Amino acid sequence: MATNDRTSLPDVQGALRTDAEACARAAATFGGPLASTPSVVLSPAGALDIQRLVHYARACDLPIAVRGQGHAVGRHVAAPGGVVVDMRSMARVGGVEANSVWVDAGARWRDVVTAALRHGRVPPTLTGYLDATVGGTLAIAGIGAESYRTGAQVDHVLELDVVTGTGELVRCSPERERPLFDAVRCGLGQFGIVIAARIALVPAPRAVQVTTSRFGELGACLSELARHVADARYEHVSAAALEGPDGFAFELSLVRYAQGEVRGDGEVDFATFVARTDAVVAEFQRAGMWTVPHPWIDVIVPAGRAEAFIAAELTALQRADLGGGLVLLTPLARSRLHAPLCRVPEAEQLLLFDVLRNAVPGTPARAADLARDNRALYERALAIGATLYPISAVELTPDDWRRHYGERWPEVVAAKRRFDPEHRLGRGLRITDGTAPT
Ligand SMILES: Cc1cc2nc3c(=O)[nH]c(=O)nc-3n(C[C@H](O)[C@H](O)[C@H](O)COP(=O)(O)OP(=O)(O)OC[C@H]3O[C@@H](n4cnc5c(N)ncnc54)[C@H](O)[C@@H]3O)c2cc1C
Repeated sequence: MATNDRTSLPDVQGALRTDAEACARAAATFGGPLASTPSVVLSPAGALDIQRLVHYARACDLPIAVRGQGHAVGRHVAAPGGVVVDMRSMARVGGVEANSVWVDAGARWRDVVTAALRHGRVPPTLTGYLDATVGGTLAIAGIGAESYRTGAQVDHVLELDVVTGTGELVRCSPERERPLFDAVRCGLGQFGIVIAARIALVPAPRAVQVTTSRFGELGACLSELARHVADARYEHVSAAALEGPDGFAFELSLVRYAQGEVRGDGEVDFATFVARTDAVVAEFQRAGMWTVPHPWIDVIVPAGRAEAFIAAELTALQRADLGGGLVLLTPLARSRLHAPLCRVPEAEQLLLFDVLRNAVPGTPARAADLARDNRALYERALAIGATLYPISAVELTPDDWRRHYGERWPEVVAAKRRFDPEHRLGRGLRITDGTAPT
């Protein structure tokens, strides 16, 4: 394409689309019909394509959003009338070294794990679901059942290559360009477009042993969970609230890594274990629940307040409002979460409470109703000192975001001024209201 004036579409090595079908696809997300349609979609071949698109967006005064697999359930990847960078075209996983691997931001964690396991290595923290992109989870945090010991995925990033909102390509790390490194991890796509990441690797176990136990009472399940968090003998600790005919029952899952070959007695090989949610996804797909909107709400609760809060929320939760979805409880430890923009309550012991709803029927009106319920749940959560895990479908105002970032807000504003002063990136979430940051 021609570049004869500042507002012509840029020349790129990858693909640039402006047709209605591509633009509609770039607006569609797992959350449903919240996002709005862009006018240009770039599938980049490399950083230079992205830099050119950023310069074009600046010349034409357009918003920019970056997306991976589009599993966001809020307005994270919305760029109304603007440009969307679809990172799935940059999905290379580099050579695996003993302690790290460089990967393109559009690579799925599944591909990273497959490559790493060939060398007996694995990232220290994995989300339960492996088909999100590296850029997608690093923009959020990336929490797994091992996080209470190992922190989030953002805690295991060694270096990042980023194109900022001014179109500069910058390599950053704890030692180099630290403000950008700290802004981009958990940055919700607000400060730059991650091109590639060097991810830490550790030796992978050969096998794991999974033990589950059932509880009729939330309190009994949470006491047992807390006991296992305290002695930290299991690599993974997590729980789920399971809907039954008479309300919820609770299942605690404990996972221990083993180094030898897979034995009988309940052990499975590690590669099978890390892909354990594939069966759940297949079941959702079979039931038609993968394509409906997913108005999820996820809050991080101080563990000491968790039982009363979650019990009340589960009592209030109507079967129809969960729509056959899942309720997950994942322990976290504040001292293991180091990224400054990962916002968690003050307490050391925390619990991530995920209400992973399906909108049934899958209409925009139903999704909007459930998102309103999410707002009410979010406010009740704030009242007990919880924070939002921002993979949620809940409408936040700029004041809500200011409260969310708390004492980090001045750093958010400073990073926005420095790395995206025209406020082009990630406008959908209204973190700074689409105007100059204040
Ligand atoms: C079935 C399922 C299970 C899940 N399980 C977990 C779990 O166990 N733990 C957990 O923590 N999360 C979990 N999630 C949430 C998931 O990690 C996030 O929604 C993640 O952001 C999705 O990645 P994506 O590639 O789809 O990103 P998208 O939805 O495309 O984007 C999400 C956000 O990341 C930003 N972004 C994407 N790529 C880049 C980039 N290259 N540079 C800068 N910003 C970027 C976007 O702008 C947006 O703000 C799950 C989601 C699903 C659908």
